[in-house]
Amino acid sequence: MHPRRAFLSRAAAALVGGVAARGGSAATPSALVVYDPIFLEHRAEGHPERPERLTAIMRALASLPGLRRLTPRAAAPAELELVHTAAHVERMRALSAAGGGAVDADTYVTPRTFEVARQAVGALLVAVDEIATGRARNAFCAVRPPGHHASRGRAMGFCIFNQVAVAARYAQARTPWKRILIVDFDVHHGNGTQDVFYRDDSVFYLSVHRAPFYPGTGAAAERGSGTTLNLPFALGTPRAEILGAWETAVRRIRREFSPDFVLVSAGFDAYRGDPIGGLGYEVEDYRRLMDVVVEAAPPGRIVSTLEGGYNLDALGACVAAHLAPMLA
Ligand code: ZN
Repeated sequence: MHPRRAFLSRAAAALVGGVAARGGSAATPSALVVYDPIFLEHRAEGHPERPERLTAIMRALASLPGLRRLTPRAAAPAELELVHTAAHVERMRALSAAGGGAVDADTYVTPRTFEVARQAVGALLVAVDEIATGRARNAFCAVRPPGHHASRGRAMGFCIFNQVAVAARYAQARTPWKRILIVDFDVHHGNGTQDVFYRDDSVFYLSVHRAPFYPGTGAAAERGSGTTLNLPFALGTPRAEILGAWETAVRRIRREFSPDFVLVSAGFDAYRGDPIGGLGYEVEDYRRLMDVVVEAAPPGRIVSTLEGGYNLDALGACVAAHLAPMLA
């Protein structure tokens, strides 16, 4: 499927919201973008993880056909505690309520962060519900803050709660899907996600990332109970080598693990022009990364969520390329 087919001419272009207004009750389930302006309310002066990232993405998605827009809900504390400790949830709530502050050198909490981060998790939960009930096929959650560095009891690396981890547990609890595959192509290793499922062979975690690099985890030798697979690559590795390793890994996981449901930690900071990452990826590589994931997932059962990606000039095009295979 040529990616250009997913792009509309100017004449046919419709705002995502407009598509929702016309297509909300369509008999054929549509793909979803889950978004709310509340995600713009978590912000810190001069920080690269900033609201303009989502503005750029939503502008790019406005010209994509076939996307129905859905608003999230706040994840309940009990839902956050499917993964996180009650102490961590309470710490984030209390820090927000007290006016916010720095969790570490990279990670900030504002008075709005607790509510925003709960909504970011809830975006994935409504996406799971929509797909499980047959009202949608595939979803992209345009959310902030990101999640894959957050572990059970700790916020770090811009991340407060781990969206994909909570969504995996929620899907296992609420749907017939028990074998969950999480794929992560953010330039950074998703140490939080790996930690949560390291001894759990019902959830497969695959990550391709730059190494050596933040956060320092993600060596090939880290295999957990056999359902953790890390593909670390040094800066300067040819793209073809990285993408080939990813495709081989996803196809093997499809054969050997046979997932019921797939979650994607979609970070776009491996793009060659990313200001804080970079692993040489071109825009079209984000389509290729997903072509093989779409093959590996049961039809329509993919929920992708935004992690990193800080080049505002390219982020929208990268996300559009990422979505093309899910919309085909
Ligand atoms: Zn990242």
